[in-house]
Amino acid sequence: MRKIITSLSSALLILFASLSLNGVAKSAEFFTIGTGGPTGVYFQTGNAICKMLHKSAISADHGRKKGTAKAYRCTAPSTGGSNYNIGQIAAGEFQFGVAQSDWQYHAVNGSSKWEGKQYSDLRAVFSVHNEPFQIWARKKAKIKNFSDLEGKVVNIGNPGSGQRGTMEELMKAMGVDNSFFKSTTELTSSEQVKALCDGKIDAFGYSVGFPNGAMEQAATCAAKASPINLTGPEVQGLIDGADYYAQAVIPKGTYTKQKKDATTFGVKATVVTSADVSEELVYLVTKAVFENFDDFKKQHPAFSFLEKKNMIKDGLSAPLHPGAIKYYKEAGLM
Ligand code: GLU
Repeated sequence: MRKIITSLSSALLILFASLSLNGVAKSAEFFTIGTGGPTGVYFQTGNAICKMLHKSAISADHGRKKGTAKAYRCTAPSTGGSNYNIGQIAAGEFQFGVAQSDWQYHAVNGSSKWEGKQYSDLRAVFSVHNEPFQIWARKKAKIKNFSDLEGKVVNIGNPGSGQRGTMEELMKAMGVDNSFFKSTTELTSSEQVKALCDGKIDAFGYSVGFPNGAMEQAATCAAKASPINLTGPEVQGLIDGADYYAQAVIPKGTYTKQKKDATTFGVKATVVTSADVSEELVYLVTKAVFENFDDFKKQHPAFSFLEKKNMIKDGLSAPLHPGAIKYYKEAGLM
């Protein structure tokens, strides 16, 4: 019996060894792009990138002879958002992530939430859509501006999300802390709309591209919510004080019954990676997006304004990864 088991296991060993020698068992290299909540735009961004990569892998086989090609296989799971993604890249768990331009800046410079935890190996790949920082309030709460949030129940976002960090920066600029509100919640982006619609919270802060299906739900549910204006000297101070912030407008009519423009400040969504990720992989990911650009732009309405020349510079404060530079030079973009 033992003899049978021994010879069976050596047969299996030989089988596995020959599979890997033929390049079958080691042919696929899996990598991960960190995104955001399942109802946000980051989730769509990560999955659109994977789709473009898989598409170009099928059409070009990476230009290699069959059997020797290293196929890259990409997954883009939903995550806690910007700062969570950067942390996972630093830990070597994710190879790419989508992150707000402000958090890209702070991580690579060791400022704000990243003080004492500077991650200088963070690398930029390209930027994507604009993300206005939005405070959505239910109609009955009668919130028109930031000061009306006093004594209200406000979702400040889950730890790890970009909006949580940016909300805290805004609160700092406004000179308030959590005690300014009646109470705060730490719901994720996919939980907060239901909470607002159910009247459990009065408002939430969210940095997200538009148009966005979850915000349309907030606009049309029983809460009849809308984004408030975030303007005034404190907000202007934020914009003037940092390159990663800019004035942002959600034009009227973006959402059902949104009769006025919502004026606020915003950031860019960016795709980041690590200096440890191979030049080949970053090159292939960049190329897949830029060479399938029309298709990529169709993957979400927030991408309709994208222009290649802006994507390689706007909102990028970490050094560009050499794999991205290689493609930009080859494509004549740099
Ligand atoms: N800006 C958000 C964050 O950094 C995510 C927005 C989205 O999921 O589209 O966490």
